[in-house]
Amino acid sequence: MDYQAVLEEVAAYARPYAGQGQVADYIPALERVAADRFGIAVADINGEVYGVGDWETPFSVQSISKTFSLALVMAHSGTTEDIWSRVGREPSGTPFNSLVQLEWENGIPRNPFINSGALVVTDRLQTLTGDASTTMLHFLREESGNPDLAFDQAVAGSEAEHGDRNTALGYFMSSFGNLENPVPSVIEHYFWQCSIEMSCRDLAAAGGFLARHGLRADGSRLLEAREAKRINAVMLTCGTYDAAGEFAYRVGLPAKSGVGGGIIAVVPGRCTLCVWSPGLDARGNSVAGAAALDHFTTLTGWSVF
Ligand code: GLN
Repeated sequence: MDYQAVLEEVAAYARPYAGQGQVADYIPALERVAADRFGIAVADINGEVYGVGDWETPFSVQSISKTFSLALVMAHSGTTEDIWSRVGREPSGTPFNSLVQLEWENGIPRNPFINSGALVVTDRLQTLTGDASTTMLHFLREESGNPDLAFDQAVAGSEAEHGDRNTALGYFMSSFGNLENPVPSVIEHYFWQCSIEMSCRDLAAAGGFLARHGLRADGSRLLEAREAKRINAVMLTCGTYDAAGEFAYRVGLPAKSGVGGGIIAVVPGRCTLCVWSPGLDARGNSVAGAAALDHFTTLTGWSVF
């Protein structure tokens, strides 16, 4: 596959969509990014990375971090099963920051890729490692090969200032006994994880273990093959919030989006992609990013379907 040529063609198709949609404005620190930025990168399973456009520009990973916290919990707990008694594996059909479902399902979030689910996973990672957000930052530095990756203090601070909704989710789940650590510390680590700044290049490389059936960049094993398969499955069914059905229909790849405008997508056994464009649709997914991934699977025939 001539990745560079494919990416050029994908970018030409998707660029007109850049600027469409709305840049996330729930915190001032994200609102300042120009909506029409566009970048895309692909990392093959040998770690070779190709890119086009703004593929080396760092942006806020936001909910893409939810993929890595789940992977790290699985890696540190040594079993895939314990986290699943505390968080489900079904699409939520509600917005990513919704509270409603928690009440009738006893504080058990529908899946790990909505905010409530990610708080439970972060809580578990905190218990397993003693420092959830630093564990993730170190992991991402190693997998991306970029030692300069860092938290964005302004974004994390802004999240905390406007964090009533996530804090409410935390206390509500805690009332059902579904958090092990104090709510403020879980929320803080969750915000730090969301605030990490990475480029498409960094994220495509860091997500490589999902295409390599659980093998890390250095060839060592992070996850069993069946665990990587399970993360990919949950990405496909839940990774793009209440648009996961539409995403499977259009793109047909495991994917995880974030309100910073990034989306990672996995072609198991072949490559990991990351696309970035900050204009979001009503569900919080990048408009140009979805268009790019749609065109990528059309051109390559590499949808999992
Ligand atoms: N930091 C954001 C929040 O907690 C992440 C949400 C997202 O990217 N969908 O609301």
